[in-house]
Amino acid sequence: MSTEAVAVSAVSEPQQHTPSAPAQANTVEKVNLLGMSRPQMEKFFEDIGEKKFRAGQVMKWIHQFFVTDFAEMTNISGKLREKLEKICEIKAPEVVHKNYSKDGTRKWVFRVGDGEGSLVETVLIPAEHRSGLRRTLCISSQVGCALDCSFCSTGKQGFQRDLTQAEIIGQLWMANYSYMEDVPVLERERSVTNVVMMGMGEPLLNYDAVLNSMRIMLDDFAYGMSKRRVTLSTSGVVPKIDQMVKDIDVALAISLHAPNDELRNELVPINKKYPLEQLIAACQRYIAKDGNESSRKHVTIEYVMLDGVNDHPEHAQQMIKLLKNLPSKINLIPFNPFPHAPYGRSSRNRIISFQKTLSDAGFVCTIRQTRGDDIDAACGQLVGQVADRTRRAEQWKKKIAQSNEIMRSQG
Ligand code: SF4
Repeated sequence: MSTEAVAVSAVSEPQQHTPSAPAQANTVEKVNLLGMSRPQMEKFFEDIGEKKFRAGQVMKWIHQFFVTDFAEMTNISGKLREKLEKICEIKAPEVVHKNYSKDGTRKWVFRVGDGEGSLVETVLIPAEHRSGLRRTLCISSQVGCALDCSFCSTGKQGFQRDLTQAEIIGQLWMANYSYMEDVPVLERERSVTNVVMMGMGEPLLNYDAVLNSMRIMLDDFAYGMSKRRVTLSTSGVVPKIDQMVKDIDVALAISLHAPNDELRNELVPINKKYPLEQLIAACQRYIAKDGNESSRKHVTIEYVMLDGVNDHPEHAQQMIKLLKNLPSKINLIPFNPFPHAPYGRSSRNRIISFQKTLSDAGFVCTIRQTRGDDIDAACGQLVGQVADRTRRAEQWKKKIAQSNEIMRSQG
């Protein structure tokens, strides 16, 4: 398929502001309102001597009408607009590249700093659903990732830093705005229907910023999304899953990828710290707290299908055993190889057979449709070409060859 590359669009300068301290009128740096949750913005308005209800008004302009110019906020007095203009700004991260695929998938690359590699990607995938068109946005939470899952291109670039709230919510803002930039302000609508915190980085290792960003997503003064339509996907940071139970009600997905500790230690190294028994128990606690809430009726299990590594029939049997007491829906993800990837994608037959075993055991098990291949937007390709800093590729090729040899010898 051909690539429909859209011209580079420099929207704004990189922003690094945290939404905590209001700027003084005599300082150069302005406060970025984009990433503030409602309580944070209410406090900001009180701190500058204004009524806190202004927060809801301004949030609507920002997140529902995609306005960045205070002059367009017509229900706010001219005097206050002038004041805000002097001390605040509404600034999304700079878009350095955007691609729109023929199948409707959209990808943006944002610059979030000056250093080489200070880039994050955001992918929007549309899909027809019985309730109508869904536009699901996969949002990044960190620049790079420290967890180094062996099949993940993001893990190969190491960890640089956490994204700020403005940089996280700015991805959602920009995706919505991309459908509305030519629409008159008062006719604009929110277009993104679903969010998954599943892009670059481990969201639970940037907990506060991710939590506040998800609160903005759920807030009726901002995106007003249903809690069932906001999903946090984690590789298994157990204490933070328990913390989420207290802090927010959204859907939970687990990047499982292996049904036993030995294999998961290799594929998802955080498993050495929080092994499967602890992870499954945390998922059960997450569901148990509020079992009658639809967002917490089940956990989504993500399982990338790696040829000859985790796709054998006995792995499916181990999955059945592992998940037997956890209400779950399983999503099998055909692996998308990236440059120097140490794995290949399981064959279609192998994936279907794996799915059948799980379905026959009573699980809802789907195979993720591969989308956006023509723009490198599919999962696992978020970083593009990165150097494989480890020798893991070589080691894994040997291991797969050995595994296949054993399988052959067993007939
Ligand atoms: S799969 Fe997720 S947690 Fe693992 S290295 Fe990649 S971004 Fe990090």
